[in-house]
Amino acid sequence: MLQMAGRMDVLGTETAFEVLARANALAAQGRSIINLGIGQPDFPTPDHIVEAGIKANKTADQLKKAKALAKYEPEEYRPGSSIQDDLSLAKAAGELGTTIFHPVGTCKMGSDPLAVVDDELRVHGIGRLRVIDASIFPRITSGNTNAPTYVIAEKGARAILKPNPAAPI
Ligand SMILES: Cc1cc2nc3c(=O)[nH]c(=O)nc-3n(C[C@H](O)[C@H](O)[C@H](O)COP(=O)(O)OP(=O)(O)OC[C@H]3O[C@@H](n4cnc5c(N)ncnc54)[C@H](O)[C@@H]3O)c2cc1C
Repeated sequence: MLQMAGRMDVLGTETAFEVLARANALAAQGRSIINLGIGQPDFPTPDHIVEAGIKANKTADQLKKAKALAKYEPEEYRPGSSIQDDLSLAKAAGELGTTIFHPVGTCKMGSDPLAVVDDELRVHGIGRLRVIDASIFPRITSGNTNAPTYVIAEKGARAILKPNPAAPI
């Protein structure tokens, strides 16, 4: 993440602007175990995420120096222009980086021993219980998660409404 600020002329008025260049690591390349005990989850940042953070900051730094932006005199304030070497950039990526609010995929659909629900979203081994939410995503989507969650809700609603003569009344 790189934050910079500058000034530009908007309809004859000098106006301050702020640009936030932010990189998202969208495709999970590993799995961690998160202990949801007391306190905040604390999980290690994998190396490839740190490397992506370093590269992202370098790319944003090049954007900041682009000719087209020069007239706005952008000034970087996070992580700061003085931070240039990989070690400091990695540290900054760790300090500025956050997880984003799209948790998915904790509840596998399928029929293998790790699967929680079947393809009608019914929980294996427990009658009259379905999981109909983002936890059944097989992996994170590149775009936002809310719309695909609606699709799962639609699928779940159809499954519930489907006539099932074997279901207990
Ligand atoms: C801050 C923030 C910003 C976001 N911004 C966007 C965005 O801009 N665009 C986008 O597409 N997505 C966004 N998302 C993601 C999106 O909101 C979620 O992916 C989506 O809401 C997931 O839906 P869900 O039904 O799986 O979970 P939720 O919406 O979290 O619903 C789960 C429901 O289950 C209930 N529940 C939990 N445990 C139990 C229990 N044991 N018994 C009974 N009920 C229980 C909860 O109270 C909750 O009502 C954002 C999420 C957050 C947190």
